Amino acid sequence: LGLNHMSVHYQPQVSLTTGGITGAEALIRWTDPEMGPVSPGAFIPLAEDSGLIESLTDIMFETAMRDMAEHLRTGSFYISFNLSAHDMAKSRYFDMISARLHELGIAPAKIAIEATERGFFDVAQANDIIKLYHEAGHSIFIDDFGTGYSSLSYLQHLAIDVIKIDKAFVDAIDTGSATSSVIIHIIAMAKQLNLKIVAEGVETAAQAGFLKLHGVDAGQGFYYAQPMPANAFLRYIDQDRDLADL
Ligand code: C2E
Ligand code: CA
Ligand code: CA
Repeated sequence: LGLNHMSVHYQPQVSLTTGGITGAEALIRWTDPEMGPVSPGAFIPLAEDSGLIESLTDIMFETAMRDMAEHLRTGSFYISFNLSAHDMAKSRYFDMISARLHELGIAPAKIAIEATERGFFDVAQANDIIKLYHEAGHSIFIDDFGTGYSSLSYLQHLAIDVIKIDKAFVDAIDTGSATSSVIIHIIAMAKQLNLKIVAEGVETAAQAGFLKLHGVDAGQGFYYAQPMPANAFLRYIDQDRDLADL
């Protein structure tokens, strides 16, 4: 892995009530000198299998801090990071970012953690780690929600703050397919558990309208903005958008 060919892109998460930006998801980008851009969908699984994922996650965080530390100290938006199963099984990453944020003078609330249910080796163990983050003031997002176990009984025991409805359910909106009604139940369940809801992969005005109508808190997707390099993201925030609370 040519780590010097790595960068971070930022994709805004937008409040459906105010239209302002609540935060952004940090997405890893790797450009191979010969092959060009390589999709994270292709190399993240390889990094997980080979044990390189931990150093990748660390470099990812450090790169994002280089881009964003100044703006996270003063701005009110958060940046969310994707963690792998390895990162959710130990306190190693928590210890690292806690020390680093303290050094940089950044409040833990400015950093959110995205974890997938599939990415838990063991739910009880993952919850111990989730609690560490939660109690330190980080928000925990359950990523790709609806594609894993997703049962109410299991969710209510996790110290989580936000669910991210998977793109598959957003795609199904207004298609009349069986899947299209599932999202209504997911939203109702999340509300019953007092969780905030972010929908991912929003691509059309019709999807955005549906999500807003059903009380989803925030949206992320090409309809609002593509993932973009740090300078473009900071311009995007400055230019025409206000910041909002999730
Ligand atoms: P994810 O966490 O579900 O991230 C969302 C993916 O959907 C991103 O793909 C994003 O570019 C894409 N996306 C956003 N909006 C839209 C939309 O409106 N339409 C469509 N078709 N796609 C949209 P990306 O950047 O290729 O990342 C793929 C996956 O790789 C991520 O899925 C995540 O699981 C993983 N990943 C990315 N960065 C990291 C990282 O730093 N660490 C770890 N462990 N995994 C990462
Ligand atoms: Ca994610
Ligand atoms: Ca996702």
